[in-house]
This record gives sequence, C-alpha cells and structure tokens, in this order.
Amino acid sequence: SAQRIAFHLLAADPADVRRLVHTLTEVKERVRFCAVCGNVAEEDECRICRDPRRDLTVICVVEESKDVVAIEKTREFRGRYHVLGGALSPLDGTTPDQLRIRELLERMRASGDSGATPITEIILATNPNVTGEATALYLSRLLAPLGVRVTRIARGVPMGSDLEYSDQVTLARALEGRRELE
Ligand code: ZN
Repeated sequence: SAQRIAFHLLAADPADVRRLVHTLTEVKERVRFCAVCGNVAEEDECRICRDPRRDLTVICVVEESKDVVAIEKTREFRGRYHVLGGALSPLDGTTPDQLRIRELLERMRASGDSGATPITEIILATNPNVTGEATALYLSRLLAPLGVRVTRIARGVPMGSDLEYSDQVTLARALEGRRELE
C-alpha cells in the first residue's frame, strides 16, 4: 500500500530514493502501448508484433499485458496477441467501449484487405472468472458473424483464478484443449 511505501522511503538512504525516482521516470517515459495489439512496448510496436516468425493468422485475446507474459512462458503459442485492457464488468462500470474491442474489430477488418494475411482463429484467453467469461461470451457473439474460428481456452485453468497465477503446464494444456465457441 501507499502507506507502507511511504514508511519504507522515510527509512531509506536518500541516494537510493533518487535512483528509484530516476528509474521510475525512465520506465514511464520509455514504456507505451503497442499500436497493434495494446501490449506494453518500448517502441511503436511490441517485440511480438515486430517478430516476423510469429503466425499472423491467429490472435490470442487477453485482458492484460501480464497475461501475455504468462502465455509466452508456456512456449505453446506462436500467434500474436490482442490486449483488451481489462474485462467487462457491470459492477466496476467497465463497458465494451472502454476495452480495446474496436481495435480488435479493426484488425479483423484490415486482415481481409488484399495482400494482408487473413486472421483465421481468435482464441479467447480472458480469465476464467465471472468478468472474463462475460467478456469471452460478448466477443464470441461479436466475432461469430465475421466467419472466423472463435475458440475459448479449456477449463484446465481453475475457475475464478487469474491466468497470471496458473502454472505453465496447466496454461499450456488449457491452450491445447481450447474448444469452439458457438
Ligand atoms: Zn503488439
């Protein structure tokens, strides 16, 4: 909490605090969001979107950048990502226009352009909790008319949990066992 950090800073060496401020300022200045997928990036596009070896036909939709890190650790996924920036939640007042859903539809549209690589599958890897499931359902209905294969990660990930805290084997199995969404 902020209070604990404040107490820690009071006890710390002023030189250490200055170094910390410098590092935080640098991070704040350098880090931005990828123009393509919304992942954290140090350039206009993140390292995954810039990697020519990634499969352009598959997009894995996640809630946050930390979920990208979790899935990358499994080494099971070679496509690209789309980071929504959260999940739909009536309680928190998070509505579709506050998530990067419009950007996802735009990516789908652009992949249909001549010369572009068509996107053939969207994997919905939102968290297996109430808001994540609601978001997956919303997206599957939105994407169904576009003729793309829409899949949802399997239930290997415990219900109510965060992808971030799943072990790599469980997450890899969940990706492997993904199923079609109606
Ligand atoms: Zn990216």
